[in-house]
Amino acid sequence: MKSSSLGYPRIGEDREWKRTLEAYWSGKIDEAEFTAQLKAIRLGNLQKQKQRGIDIIPVNDFTFYDQMLDMSVMFGLVPDRYSAYEGGSVPLSVYYSMARGNNDEVASEMTKWFNTNYHYIVPELKVPQLTLTENKPLAAYREAKEMLGIETKPVLIGPYTFISLSKGFNKQEIPGIILSLLPLYTQILQELEQEGVKWVQMDEPSLVSSISKDDMQTVTYLYEKLNEAAPNLNIMLQTYFDSVEHYQEVIELKVQGIGLDFAHDKGRNLSNLEAFGFPKDKVLAAGVIDGKNIWLSDLSKKIQLIETLKKKVSEDQIWLQPSCSLLHVPVTVHNETALSKEVKDALAFADEKLEEITLLVKGNNQGFEAIEEKVAANKFTIQTLASSNARNHGSVQSNVEKVKTRTAGRQLPFKERYQKQQGFFKLPFLPSTTIGSFPQTFEVKQARGKFKRGEWTAQQYETFVNEEIGRWIEIQEEIGLDVLVHGEFERTDMVEYFGHKLGGFVFLEKGWVQSYGSRCVKPPVIYGDIHFIEPMTVRESVFAQSLTKKTVKGMLTGPVTILNWSFVRDDISRENVCYQLALALEKEVIALESAGIKMIQVDEPALREGLPLKKSDRDEYLNWAVNSFLISTSSVEDTTQIHTHMCYCDFNSFMDVISSLDADVISIETSRSHGELASAFEAKTYEKGIGLGVYDIHSPRVPAVEEMVDMIERGIKVLDKDQFWINPDCGLKTRGLPETVASLKNMVEAAKIVRENLLAKPTGK
Ligand code: GLN
Ligand code: ZN
Repeated sequence: MKSSSLGYPRIGEDREWKRTLEAYWSGKIDEAEFTAQLKAIRLGNLQKQKQRGIDIIPVNDFTFYDQMLDMSVMFGLVPDRYSAYEGGSVPLSVYYSMARGNNDEVASEMTKWFNTNYHYIVPELKVPQLTLTENKPLAAYREAKEMLGIETKPVLIGPYTFISLSKGFNKQEIPGIILSLLPLYTQILQELEQEGVKWVQMDEPSLVSSISKDDMQTVTYLYEKLNEAAPNLNIMLQTYFDSVEHYQEVIELKVQGIGLDFAHDKGRNLSNLEAFGFPKDKVLAAGVIDGKNIWLSDLSKKIQLIETLKKKVSEDQIWLQPSCSLLHVPVTVHNETALSKEVKDALAFADEKLEEITLLVKGNNQGFEAIEEKVAANKFTIQTLASSNARNHGSVQSNVEKVKTRTAGRQLPFKERYQKQQGFFKLPFLPSTTIGSFPQTFEVKQARGKFKRGEWTAQQYETFVNEEIGRWIEIQEEIGLDVLVHGEFERTDMVEYFGHKLGGFVFLEKGWVQSYGSRCVKPPVIYGDIHFIEPMTVRESVFAQSLTKKTVKGMLTGPVTILNWSFVRDDISRENVCYQLALALEKEVIALESAGIKMIQVDEPALREGLPLKKSDRDEYLNWAVNSFLISTSSVEDTTQIHTHMCYCDFNSFMDVISSLDADVISIETSRSHGELASAFEAKTYEKGIGLGVYDIHSPRVPAVEEMVDMIERGIKVLDKDQFWINPDCGLKTRGLPETVASLKNMVEAAKIVRENLLAKPTGK
């Protein structure tokens, strides 16, 4: 049995990768310095893996920005709008224009990598352009060999996944695209073969999504051709994030190894392996250690799993590895100095996961007695955390069991309570509002820094926040918005803020993971039972409400979003953790209502991204996700109006789910695809309150009044004017003050014009 890995975090223990990129972008270092620094990080990463005893070390998992973008530039796929590109190998300046845009040319689209929080740059396919500009995997292989004497396994994205994640073509064009991509892949593999490379890892995570039989045939064809082209090169066809959709076909592919995820497969890969076996002539790269979460593995369970695998696959044909690239976890637990021993001992980031792998391989190869002590210590750590107070907090778990049997829901059906609410709030039709946050200016960030460093007392900080709230209440009144917000100045982040106030969370010091480009995030860690300690948002909302006669909308983050944007304990189901969050947030909603806040927005921007990769798993997720939202929001009086917000465009396939949240009003991010959205409503009917964002907050541009008039008029052609709300498409915290005020003024003016037009000659639905 051998140890292997699929990819290592590129950012460095102290985010040195990020700093190098940003230093280069700002002109602080030149290209030579930049490439030298990145080379040092890259080689350092390889050495760390070597020192940990990994037999099969990946290369070409490193990148200057994103691995999908690397594939695109390797194939010469530079969209025409980047005028500096003249063909041939792609200069760094063009590479970064594609990634980040420049003054004149917009960046390529970025989107989420499967069900992770990593974002890749979407390739824009243009068939006549395809040409191999460089062989990056080969260069990475050579570098490791020459500099460190390590024989490595180059990694690249396989053709099926590459095409499935690209855009710019119709379905009918796919055969043509495949035919023009194949020679490029062939050339890469042949050059690797000539160099004497033993194994190449071709990542095909798309094979775990709900792919059709036809597509599976295409995959079979592709790998037959690639194998024919480089018969002496071993291909490890690597899947991850779930079980493969067509197990029997996948294991018969013309490749020398298959990589399967045994951590996030819901047991399906294993039961398929037990039912259908595994070919004798192939290597099984067994993803036994969870590569996406941060917890120590239960070694006894892993040993059992290894024994089960060995019943079907001979042990010299097994590689033990993480379930996916370690890109999705922080680098090492060693740098965490503030955690309790109980928690710290129970964590495993990239380096510790590799140690688990080599330990298990050693156990297997020398007999598990050889690692007995470590296994016993591991059991002790896991049991200690399991029996800790944090994981056995009062009645939290029994309340979750109870709530699962409760059908959560408002007392009155939507139409009746909306009518009551309209009487209560007395808003004009087409009421205007915002999504919650206002600009987090330099001063706001500076104040938070002072408070964090202890230079300011809590009192001083609170005074500052109050002043900001007061200033913005005045601004909003002057703009003429109908429903006001307090502005979220007290929050750095919409999840972290609640994590700090709820019981059951801890925070990491260096627990960064790459989100996109140089941007890294440090997700909060849910390690214990979640419980409500004290009101979290009431003070700010009540203060804001005390300053105005207009309605102030309360603002909190929903249970599903907090779940999806955190690292979550893995000893109980995500469903149960979500219910714990839901019960805690229900208390917050009730606290707001009793404090006089009668309009409450519960944001769920991450609800959709938690969707499982397989269609067949989606209902189960949506069932508990929607129910969690309902639990948090349904215990209010009929006249209390619940709002929600999602950043989301492709509304078509999701309207039923949104409707089942039963929020009185939803605001969604649609200003960039307004036309498509309107057609969704033509086909179906949505009866609840809805604000289709009338302008895009992601750009500093101030939209003209007429543009928004047009947008609103298109909206009320398909939606009732009494259900339509006017708002920007997301929070304004990343914007500056001048453009925010100017845009909102235009928005309010647009609403006024449409109202007047409607009164003059009522059209609409
Ligand atoms: N209320 C949040 C804000 O305005 C919503 C943010 C989001 O949708 N991501 O910032
Ligand atoms: Zn949003």
